[in-house]
Amino acid sequence: MNVFVLNTGSSSVKFQIITTDLDLFENDADEMVAKGLIERIGKEDAIFTLEAIGSEPVRGTESIHDHREAILKIKNWVESKETKIKGVNGWKDINAVGHRLVHGGEKFTRSVLITPEVIEKMEECSDLAPLHNPANLKGVAACSEIFPSTIPQVGVFDTAFHSTMPEESYLYSIPYEFYEKYRIRRYGFHGTSHRYVAYRYRKLTQTPREKTNIITIHLGNGSSMTAIKNGYSIFNSMGMTPVEGLIMGTRSGDIDAGIIEYLYRKGMGELPDIMNILQKKSGMLGISGISNDMRDIEKAAADGNKRAQLALKMFAFRVKKYIGACFAQMGGTDAIIFTGGIGENDVLSREMICEGLECLGIILDKNLNNQAQKGKCMRISKEESSCHIWVIPTNEELVIARDTVRVVKDAPREW
Ligand code: ADP
Repeated sequence: MNVFVLNTGSSSVKFQIITTDLDLFENDADEMVAKGLIERIGKEDAIFTLEAIGSEPVRGTESIHDHREAILKIKNWVESKETKIKGVNGWKDINAVGHRLVHGGEKFTRSVLITPEVIEKMEECSDLAPLHNPANLKGVAACSEIFPSTIPQVGVFDTAFHSTMPEESYLYSIPYEFYEKYRIRRYGFHGTSHRYVAYRYRKLTQTPREKTNIITIHLGNGSSMTAIKNGYSIFNSMGMTPVEGLIMGTRSGDIDAGIIEYLYRKGMGELPDIMNILQKKSGMLGISGISNDMRDIEKAAADGNKRAQLALKMFAFRVKKYIGACFAQMGGTDAIIFTGGIGENDVLSREMICEGLECLGIILDKNLNNQAQKGKCMRISKEESSCHIWVIPTNEELVIARDTVRVVKDAPREW
């Protein structure tokens, strides 16, 4: 099947076309045949990059008003005679659509066929993710218009993998009625990524699911860590929203809730203004005062910038703190896995995080850490390490494509 995998943000549309099917999963014979990104949707100078694998990408700038126009742009490109996508000779060759959906609340614990009833339930979850869910739903609505009604659309939720967390892990210590009334609880995010790297680890090490005890660490612009015990997520460091937990590019991660009230009293604005500070002006950007991008911060730190050096130390300190927490919750772990833009590429962050964790049997091999190559899975711990360290590149789109096939074919889901 050719699956159109779609990830819609508030002003962006990212897609891949992946050729996959049940018989291809086992040998990893699925193939990504096209990909692209449209940004600045809603502006006169929206930017697009469309690439058929094996051909030069098509890039440009034009006015794109909404998500529907963006997907029509992709359709026209797929239909164009100049576009040569392996196995796809036009829009008619796309067999299904897989959507990345951010917040499934407690309503969705696995991937589902999108029906009017599902859309209604997702709208109910929008309250929990006002930035993400409405944008995701725009993608669904646009596809319903642009694809024939016979083309199934499947929703894959970021929160679903964490639906196995026990209540002692997901409840907040505020009056219980708020959980009952408003569903205030930890949901966890990046589930598709955590699920993918756990699956890949399991395949690499031939570990059965029920014996998979690992900590998966997704470090990117947004960062989160998952404790996976006996194959299931028992904890994720993001909470009811993606602002909790690790220090991120621009998000604060954990802070004392009292700070919010204090900032209000200090005249930093109304609640939305203060939340904007915690979401967009904090984290690595807020501490370093330079950038939210780890590469810029490391460069400044190497040039002697004290606040950049401090940001790097704080970042590693927080990740270490959560590794310790997950370790204790799980009663030990067989491996920690780094993934995401920073986890996969940043030698220095991995080294700073692992430094001092020898007491937990986590012993980094600095040479191997240096050798880890972009896009490759690699073990980077010393042989004597009782808890191994891995770098495993994530692939959320592949999970979405495979889940789409499973849902469409009513096949059992492995994880
Ligand atoms: P997102 O969370 O938006 O999916 P990614 O997982 O793609 O983000 O991570 C993007 C971040 O990864 C960048 O902002 C940058 O901080 C970091 N990054 C990417 N490449 C490198 C690199 N070679 N070295 C250090 N950091 C990197």
